[in-house]
Amino acid sequence: MAIRDEGLLRLAEERLRFYEELGAEFIFHKEQKKAVEPSLPRMSGRTAAEGEEGLEEVARLVRDCRKCPLAGLRHQAVPGEGRAAAELMFVGEAPGEDEDLQGRPFVGRAGHLLDRIIVAMRFRREDVFIANILKCRPPNNRDPHQEEVEACAPYLLRQVELIQPRVIVALGKPAANFFSGGSLPISLLRGRFLDFQGIQVMPTYHPAFLLRNEDNRTYKKLAWDDMKQVMALLGK
Ligand code: URA
Ligand code: SF4
Repeated sequence: MAIRDEGLLRLAEERLRFYEELGAEFIFHKEQKKAVEPSLPRMSGRTAAEGEEGLEEVARLVRDCRKCPLAGLRHQAVPGEGRAAAELMFVGEAPGEDEDLQGRPFVGRAGHLLDRIIVAMRFRREDVFIANILKCRPPNNRDPHQEEVEACAPYLLRQVELIQPRVIVALGKPAANFFSGGSLPISLLRGRFLDFQGIQVMPTYHPAFLLRNEDNRTYKKLAWDDMKQVMALLGK
């Protein structure tokens, strides 16, 4: 096939994936591409088993944590989940109602959209790591308070240190600002990698925001543009 046609085909394929995965109702079903290459443990001076053990330890500490008042309000803490050898990590804001009940990150409506984004990026959910800034749910999903972020930050930092992902996708303003150290709107931060201790961080819109603005295709397109940059960096 001529190169030009291949380019077009790729473009068409990409378009379809974008519409299909990010919420168009009119697109057919197709075989999901599975990530075929197992991600190998990276040379970080730590074996994958040591990484998994470290993450287990963090999860235990989180479940017992009472460092901020959110401890008294939670059904379950939500430490995060995924592989220690993940090259890609997603960081959200805090557990919502479903996450608080199940003790797992991103399992509600926003989580289902995140699942679709992960698959569209040619990853599997079990191969990435998914966490939040706060490990316990704020009442009525209000924004995290600065004292809560400060109390909870060591858990996320330890997770990042253990995993040493190549890329972190920061979902929404609190996550983006956690890594940028500033306080800018997500619309200004998204779309450009920033460096966090040698790790590339891509801020993008939170899936809950994309759901709230479902009829605005511009946000979805921008979020997908951001994810394409992440895919390119990871050779996907
Ligand atoms: N929103 C988040 O930021 N995190 C979750 O885990 C779920 C929804
Ligand atoms: Fe501990 Fe974080 Fe939960 Fe606060 S939100 S109790 S700091 S785990």
